[in-house]
Amino acid sequence: MIENENKKENCSVFFSGGIDSVSTLVSVIDKKPLLITIWGTDVWDYNTEGWSSLKKLAEEYSEKLNLKNLFIKTNFRKFIYEHVLTEKLLKGVIDDSWWRGIQHGIGLLGHVAPYAYKYNITTHYIPATLNVKSQKGTTCGSCPEIDETVKYADCKIVHEGYDKTRIEKAAHIVRYFKDKGQAMKLRVCYMDKGDKLNCCECEKCFLSMMEILSEKVNLKDWGFDVDEKTLKNIPKFLKKHSNPSPINKEIWADIVEKFKQDEKYWKKQKAVKWVLKYNPYKK
Ligand SMILES: [Zn+2]
Repeated sequence: MIENENKKENCSVFFSGGIDSVSTLVSVIDKKPLLITIWGTDVWDYNTEGWSSLKKLAEEYSEKLNLKNLFIKTNFRKFIYEHVLTEKLLKGVIDDSWWRGIQHGIGLLGHVAPYAYKYNITTHYIPATLNVKSQKGTTCGSCPEIDETVKYADCKIVHEGYDKTRIEKAAHIVRYFKDKGQAMKLRVCYMDKGDKLNCCECEKCFLSMMEILSEKVNLKDWGFDVDEKTLKNIPKFLKKHSNPSPINKEIWADIVEKFKQDEKYWKKQKAVKWVLKYNPYKK
């Protein structure tokens, strides 16, 4: 490890605008982290509209929270053939893709190294996707055991948020901004289509909406431009298109459980009362 001569301690955090990312930002906000947003990971490099909306969102956060941004453009998902590596190296070893099983955590962290030296960053936070419970039995390549062994330029890595489920992260976010009298838009969608923050038509959007809605807020304020009809029709969509993975099953179970904590209130919410009885595996 290289000792950096300038001892002023700065920190940074990956920022993508999603629930994991914003929850980590809220957790470390007192340390005034530098927001690092990477173009070429969730948003592909050809999606200039998508990038400009993500960039704008990152700038809105830094402006509201009095932080600074760092934007990095990368081709790290393109200079290797992910599918070939998945086929040739991982088949029969782990049931996962090169991106999810091997590359994404360490690959993303590599981008921070030169800036850690340049800006004297002594701690970089990578938001956890999974948690202690949901990581079990998965082969996701981003976890504390791997990410936190990465060290460079006097900088250590913290895999942040591993102790929280997504529903807990959603509450953590909403309550923090509510206390400040604010609401912040989120960008949770993987569809990477155009300049929309969220397509509001996929399972990832739907489950994120319900996580945020469980805090009894107006979804439009949080980046989800949906009406009552769309909310009502979610079970119909999920019946055909849901991904009944153990992780999604757990996420939905957490949502249902949270809604049940105030059954009386949610029974009156016509557009979403279906959540109280939702079972992702029931076809
Ligand atoms: Zn979506």
